[in-house]
Amino acid sequence: MTTDPRRQLPSIDALLAAPAVTQLLATHPRALVVKAARAAVDEARVNGGTAPAEGWDAAVRAAVVRLAVPSLAPVINATGVVLHTNLGRAPLAAAAIAAITRVAQGYSALEYDLGRGTRGSRHAICRDLLVELTGAADAMVVNNAAGALLLALSALARGGDAIVSRGELVEIGGSFRIPDIMARSGARVVEVGTTNRTHPHDYDRALTADSRVLLKVHRSNFQVTGFTADVAVVELAEMAHGRGIACVYDLGSGLLMNLSRWGLSGEPTVPEAVATGADLVVFSGDKLLGGPQAGILVGSEAALAACRADPIARTVRADKLTLAGLEATLALYRDHETARREIPVLRMLTEDPEGVKRRANALLQGVGASGELIEGDSEVGGGSFPGAKMKTWLVGLPDESLAERLRANDPPIIARIAGSRVLLDARTIFPEQVDTVVSALRE
Ligand SMILES: *Cc1c(COP(=O)(O)O)cnc(C)c1O
Repeated sequence: MTTDPRRQLPSIDALLAAPAVTQLLATHPRALVVKAARAAVDEARVNGGTAPAEGWDAAVRAAVVRLAVPSLAPVINATGVVLHTNLGRAPLAAAAIAAITRVAQGYSALEYDLGRGTRGSRHAICRDLLVELTGAADAMVVNNAAGALLLALSALARGGDAIVSRGELVEIGGSFRIPDIMARSGARVVEVGTTNRTHPHDYDRALTADSRVLLKVHRSNFQVTGFTADVAVVELAEMAHGRGIACVYDLGSGLLMNLSRWGLSGEPTVPEAVATGADLVVFSGDKLLGGPQAGILVGSEAALAACRADPIARTVRADKLTLAGLEATLALYRDHETARREIPVLRMLTEDPEGVKRRANALLQGVGASGELIEGDSEVGGGSFPGAKMKTWLVGLPDESLAERLRANDPPIIARIAGSRVLLDARTIFPEQVDTVVSALRE
């Protein structure tokens, strides 16, 4: 009869009593070391009960290091996708980071009227700046744009119909779909038109006494070409107002200044969206706007009053750190040149290819003869300017397995893979990150 080696695994107490493990207790919380010891024993059990090759002390130490790493850590984005949703979308401007830090350090007048010494409203924060920058009559900020859309439809269409074109039933990523979000608002989704063509008479035929909102969704992450037709927001707004109902425009990206000088066109700016006459325009804070995650609603006073009074407003409210970061980001837009220089998203989108090339050449220093400089394209990402390409410079490396090793670097470096090559796009690698990437490549 053979004894199961798993019976011979050390007890947690025995592991904790080992001098090398006791030493760990001086610098790490006991709960963490105990968890690490359990993890080491569990791993040995999975391996058929054999002791770790590196020895128990080393195995526990490695588990402590592994378990102490925060689950949300910074990475270096070498993909060239400027608004990479999986990598946290917009890196923040220095002014936004400073504002967030200031507010995080202590108390703040989040819901306090300093003039009167009474309760104030967090919805007043950013309001005046948004009005000034967009030309809308009123504004408010919530947690994200999907939440803003939910709020807009709950406030304006709950119990009635929200009419939308079949060509605009967008999936916004992470398998979340606009029609599902719409349905949760309590509005009935009425689809009109076809995937490629929707006409004014399609909306007209769907209008009944139950209609509350005509919704326009900006097709932010895909393009429709060929035999297509859709109804402009100006026309939808007019049609809605003719019937005494509202027009809501889900704009998605929140572009606050025109970037066509830099080859990026086709995405409406927020002021243009407001000028269509839509009652509410909804957009993200962390896409082209370049701020923290937020959902922004701008529009008429009546529409915003309805939004503020809706219970959903409380469930999707923005936190103070977001409001501080967003306010500081918005303030930079008072001067477009300052915004372009200070807001990382705008800086990366408008950077001259020569600057990108200089950084790519610096990266090449780290790889010796195996790397090559390649001309290519970067993407905007984040469901903005779909199909737009920006000329960029890449460092190409022949070894596909390098991508995995770069991800294991501290900090992780996320590269692009194209066929059997690994590509590093210098556009999204910040100047101060170049040395870190070079030393990772050398290793
Ligand atoms: C991105 C996007 C959303 C969702 O925005 P979040 O801020 O990520 O919630 C909604 N609608 C459109 C059209 C979008 O492009």
